[in-house]
Amino acid sequence: MNTNKRHAVIAGNWKMNKTPSEAKILINELIPVVKNAECDVVICVPFVDLAVAIEATRGTNIKVGAENCHFAESGAYTGEISASMLKEIGTEYVVIGHSERRQYFAETNETVNLRTKAVIAADMTAIVCVGEVLAERENNTTADVVTTQTKKALEGISKADLSKIIIAYEPVWAIGTGKTATDEQAAEVCGLIRNIVKELYDNDAAEALTVQYGGSMNPKNAAGLLSMEDIDGGLIGGASLKADDFAVIVEAAK
Ligand code: PEP
Repeated sequence: MNTNKRHAVIAGNWKMNKTPSEAKILINELIPVVKNAECDVVICVPFVDLAVAIEATRGTNIKVGAENCHFAESGAYTGEISASMLKEIGTEYVVIGHSERRQYFAETNETVNLRTKAVIAADMTAIVCVGEVLAERENNTTADVVTTQTKKALEGISKADLSKIIIAYEPVWAIGTGKTATDEQAAEVCGLIRNIVKELYDNDAAEALTVQYGGSMNPKNAAGLLSMEDIDGGLIGGASLKADDFAVIVEAAK
């Protein structure tokens, strides 16, 4: 992490966990333990928890994000939620292209790009997830996969709008498995992402981009991962559901 150059962001991804009443309890536990954070602290919560989370975090240093949104502004998309709906209630971040969405809900590089643009148009920040599956790591195609995902996600996005994007490198084999990429493996791919942005835009854009690592980050491994020059924060699943664990990770981002 190079805090002289860019912003550190620790974001929780609650996935499909916590009812609204449970969300309120967890947030009330979180508020005191992350209040002295030196990084941005974000919790990305299920849609039905957003209103409660936004209300419960008012006046605190915790920002609230959603876990997905549709790319259309409105229309006949039963069951979907648009970016402007999220914006209007006070949502500031949206996770886009999480591997669970890619794996279980037919998310593609094209829809990731469309959703990212919708988030930017609604003036929120997109946390765009990229990362290889185990077979891709094993057959040495990680760089190709991540390059394609990153380039596709950023297609048609201006340099000015890059300030509304965080890229989260999440090796799929490390998500929810307890297997973490080594500090070096994670930093190598985060550095690759920064280089792609340099190639697509310029050095200033690349240096300003926040690149997170995600995949079984926990209180034990966070400090090592976050000490790497190109890793500017984390997207945290399981450990974001325990206030004390999340707080240790936030503390490691100092
Ligand atoms: C995630 O959901 O993005 C994630 C990284 O999960 P976990 O920390 O549980 O691996």
